[in-house]
Amino acid sequence: MNLELIRAVAHMREFVAGARLQGRTIGCVPTMGALHAGHGALMDRARSECGSVVATIFVNPIQFDRPDDYERYARTLDADLVYSEARGVDVVFAPSAAEMYPEPSATFVEVPELARHLCGEFRPGHFRGVATVVAKLFNIIQPDAAYFGEKDAQQLAIIEQMARDLNFPVRIVPVPTVREPDGLALSSRNQRLTPEERRVAPALFQALSRARELIAAGERNPQVVKRVAADLLSRQAAMRLEYLEIVDPRSMQPVDRISGPVRVAAAVWLGTTRLIDNVIAQAS
Ligand code: AMP
Repeated sequence: MNLELIRAVAHMREFVAGARLQGRTIGCVPTMGALHAGHGALMDRARSECGSVVATIFVNPIQFDRPDDYERYARTLDADLVYSEARGVDVVFAPSAAEMYPEPSATFVEVPELARHLCGEFRPGHFRGVATVVAKLFNIIQPDAAYFGEKDAQQLAIIEQMARDLNFPVRIVPVPTVREPDGLALSSRNQRLTPEERRVAPALFQALSRARELIAAGERNPQVVKRVAADLLSRQAAMRLEYLEIVDPRSMQPVDRISGPVRVAAAVWLGTTRLIDNVIAQAS
């Protein structure tokens, strides 16, 4: 294997110092593992832009609001290493929880305004955990560029804001959502769906797509768009809507009137699995 697996922070820093001495730029792809083609798209983009590509695989305990979700999270390191190597990744940084948090963290990074709505409203502490671990990874790896999926649009906006506010010298690169042929956004959590839930799951993207169509056709009232999309979702008895919101793509605040680009974002439950998705919609 050409790929190097690094477990220790100190070893990661040594790799980074070596890459810098050789004049190589560093691209970072933070993940929680259980890799799929969505992560692959981030890796491909990093590979095309950077001298060294570091993928991180860390199921970050402090970003889970439900202990069962943390415990059930798929951990497939061997397969992830094979996948990463095939995508041209140079290093997988996969620290243990004890390596990342040798003592309980007393310092946290928060972007409260951007975390107020959408997932932040329903997953208390989630984005604080995300922003904190990403700040730690940025300090350990010191990447020139870091790659994040638009699938997690609120996370992306929060990381962009954090990097600006705290002067992290890193370029945040958004990567479009990779989907199954039927529209379902790829997610590590899709593996948990029963065959029946999997059959129903594309209704989420279909509802968001309908919202996008209405906006493109000139609808400016977010309440109207939300009602149509929520009605579509309510036709699926197995699906429970958590939220459906139309927000400004940068501030993540709900809009009163649609003008310019907006993000239509939703979260649904199928049984015990929570799925999120979003689309960008543009008022014509
Ligand atoms: P995760 O392992 O789920 O924490 O995701 C790691 C990164 O991959 C995040 O930046 C996600 O937004 C991104 N990602 C996850 N699923 C997709 C997808 N279907 N398309 C594009 N990026 C994705």
